Amino acid sequence: MQSYAAQFPSLVEHCAPTPPRAPQWISFNEQLAQQLDLSALFRDAEQALACLSGTELNEAITPTASAYAGHQFAHFVPRLGDGRAILLSEVQGRDGLTYDVQLKGAGKTPFSRGGDGRSPIGPVLREYLCSEAMHALGVPTTRALAAVASGELVFRDTSLPGAILTRVARSHLRVGTFQYVAQQGDNDLLQRFADYVITRHYPHCRETDAPYLDLFEAINDSQARLIAQWMANGFIHGVMNTDNMTLSGETIDYGPCAFLEAYQADAVFSSIDKQGRYAYRNQPGIGQWNLARLAESMLALIDPDTDTAIKQVTLVLNAFPKMYEHYYDQLFAQKLGLYQISDNSRALVKDFLELLEAAELDFTLAFRYLSDPDDSRRQPFFAAAENWPQWHSRWQAELAQQGLSATELSQRLQATNPAYIPRNHLIEQVIQDVLETGKLEAFQLLLEALQNPFDERPEFAHLMQPAAPTERVTKTFC
Ligand code: AMP
Ligand code: MG
Ligand code: MG
Repeated sequence: MQSYAAQFPSLVEHCAPTPPRAPQWISFNEQLAQQLDLSALFRDAEQALACLSGTELNEAITPTASAYAGHQFAHFVPRLGDGRAILLSEVQGRDGLTYDVQLKGAGKTPFSRGGDGRSPIGPVLREYLCSEAMHALGVPTTRALAAVASGELVFRDTSLPGAILTRVARSHLRVGTFQYVAQQGDNDLLQRFADYVITRHYPHCRETDAPYLDLFEAINDSQARLIAQWMANGFIHGVMNTDNMTLSGETIDYGPCAFLEAYQADAVFSSIDKQGRYAYRNQPGIGQWNLARLAESMLALIDPDTDTAIKQVTLVLNAFPKMYEHYYDQLFAQKLGLYQISDNSRALVKDFLELLEAAELDFTLAFRYLSDPDDSRRQPFFAAAENWPQWHSRWQAELAQQGLSATELSQRLQATNPAYIPRNHLIEQVIQDVLETGKLEAFQLLLEALQNPFDERPEFAHLMQPAAPTERVTKTFC
């Protein structure tokens, strides 16, 4: 079933995957598969491999690539589209929602331009690990249903084994899709597209007096919440172009992303982000910038009089920082075990982050060790931070007012502050290991830790630690 292709033939191109030479399983996400009705795609493991490698499709599948535009590093590109992604089908989730099932790296599409439509195995493994980790951390995200080795080489700087990722998303509609549609200058199409987004993602907007303004506001809210969650998990997307910002509020496109280790507000890892436009601390501001581009695409829907429309969207856009702060304050206070937002909770968060930055302490471990029931890991970890004793007593005083028992507090904190995140060096090590040995044990082990990020296990102790100086990864690549 493909409702999008059926309703918007002018926004998609029909194109079949290019069958790879010798597909082989890397990973199949049984847990995710259980949550979806995949029966129209395949019935057994053999058919699954044929389908998810793009080798064999059945008559129920109509593969398409979608058109979208986008601001890439602030420069508008009118026609990007799925150059290395092919949508197989929309399927129903057990939750009653519709999901896209898409192959990434399954060959050229009409949008590939000079590209080969393929993906080396490294980025496939990275996206698999990062997206499953984000899901387990409770961050809205596209997910990985499967990874298949293509048995072919892909040529980048060197030749590398190729792979195909199956990505599952609430949809692949982006700010860039709205930009593409608006550009067509067809208001009927624009309205039908907006109605489709409402039906699929924000049905509560359908019945209101101002559905399109409410849709815009709902997308602002989803993005405010999402970006606050990125910040609370030390996640840096790395390439927040408008074509990489979903309308659903899911994280998409795990290219040159990274997780903070030593806390640094202006951290940049993305090798393509030369100016630091998409630095950690810039993410909310860039989110708002992208939403302004979305607003421009929606003006004709909001009011026939452009000045009136601009006034209305501006009110929403100007409220974005407050929306974002609301989520940010809540998430970070929770990371400290504070469940009432106040000037005190905000000051404790701010001062804690400053303390981490000054002492170059690991963001994830700092919060994890705060969650311990005792001081045994905490004391040595924070010994280097000058203001730790003062901060610690202020924190204790604030906690005491809540009247939670130490055990209860520790349990709550441990369920909020993960032990395991996809640290950049761990991902690189796994990729190297797979490339050198062809074995998947290291990948599977890391995946298992990341899928249960709050449960510390002695055998995963090495996966908790930041990179040693010689292991440090300072640049990440698409
Ligand atoms: P991304 O950086 O992943 O957001 O991609 C930006 C644009 O480049 C999108 O239109 C992609 O489909 C396209 N693209 C990226 N890699 C390839 C590739 N290997 N072959 C064809 N198109 C690609
Ligand atoms: Mg993209
Ligand atoms: Mg990408």
